[in-house]
Amino acid sequence: MMNNKKVLVIYTGGTIGMVNTPLGYAPQKEAFHALLEAIPELHAAEMPRWDIVDMDPLLDSSNITVVEWNAIGAVIAERYDAYDGFVVLHGTDTMAYTASALSFMLRNNRKPVVLTGSQIPLCEIRNDARDNIITALLIAASDQVHEVCLYFGGKLLRGNRSVKYSADDLIAFESPNYPPLAEAGIAIRFNAAALLPPCRGRFAIQPLKNVPIGVIKVFPGIQFELFDSIMTERLRGIVIETFGAGNIPAHANALLPIIRKASDNGTVIIVCSQCPHGTVSLGAYETSSALRDAGAVSGFDITTEAAVAKLYYLFSRKLSGDDIRARMEKSLRGEMTVG
Ligand code: ASP
Repeated sequence: MMNNKKVLVIYTGGTIGMVNTPLGYAPQKEAFHALLEAIPELHAAEMPRWDIVDMDPLLDSSNITVVEWNAIGAVIAERYDAYDGFVVLHGTDTMAYTASALSFMLRNNRKPVVLTGSQIPLCEIRNDARDNIITALLIAASDQVHEVCLYFGGKLLRGNRSVKYSADDLIAFESPNYPPLAEAGIAIRFNAAALLPPCRGRFAIQPLKNVPIGVIKVFPGIQFELFDSIMTERLRGIVIETFGAGNIPAHANALLPIIRKASDNGTVIIVCSQCPHGTVSLGAYETSSALRDAGAVSGFDITTEAAVAKLYYLFSRKLSGDDIRARMEKSLRGEMTVG
């Protein structure tokens, strides 16, 4: 059956489009376009019509910053009405961060924005790029999805719930605290109960500011005094990856005064868990109630990737510190399950 949908492919770089050069794998626009042209399925009647826009420069995704997020967001916003859906071809290393960032930046989004990439480049005989691109295009042309998501290795995940959990498996992403939005087996089966409903408001893009934020992972024996020097008034937000349900080592009571000082300085402190699965529950243990008393807020089951992106997003809007703290404890785009 003829597919009448139109999808815009935004090529940002990453392994998917890399080719062998004398210096090793590197992204090359012309060679990647030629490889895409040579896949007959991409031009079959059942496929949506698609155009491609290349970001300049093409990047290994380890180099992605808010500048590139703003550039990708701008391409989507400029062509929002002209296309039914968007596919963002991206390196796997930071794909979960970009998916999270776009989910917040695209306000009142109701179109599918599907990020994908691959572990093996399209130029190799054995690769996962071909299926990831074809299926991502079909999902972007479906009427089922109204949010930013990530397709990889047969699973469609909510973008801001996803994490890269394997450096070499072809099924490289998971969303440990949320079910897949779809699974692509013989057919693409959408999980209607898990998908967000379409937004009604007017679509708008929120560009991000490169605000100074940080992430600290606690570990046994951590010497909190060393972090005192980074917890200055300059630091706008910090994600603390705690043990289990939100616990921190209580030794020498060293962290709490630092957190209290940071909070008094206006730094927003978010408590996440190092456990990929499960939620923070501040106050469940003595070792975590003190965090709340010192001014920290709960990230519940949010991923660190989404917490970082959400901090960038909220600090890019004209909001007071208290508004930001309140919104960090609310689900804005389905990124957390509020306990
Ligand atoms: N380093 C690459 C990137 O993230 C890895 C990949 O795409 O799989 O751009």
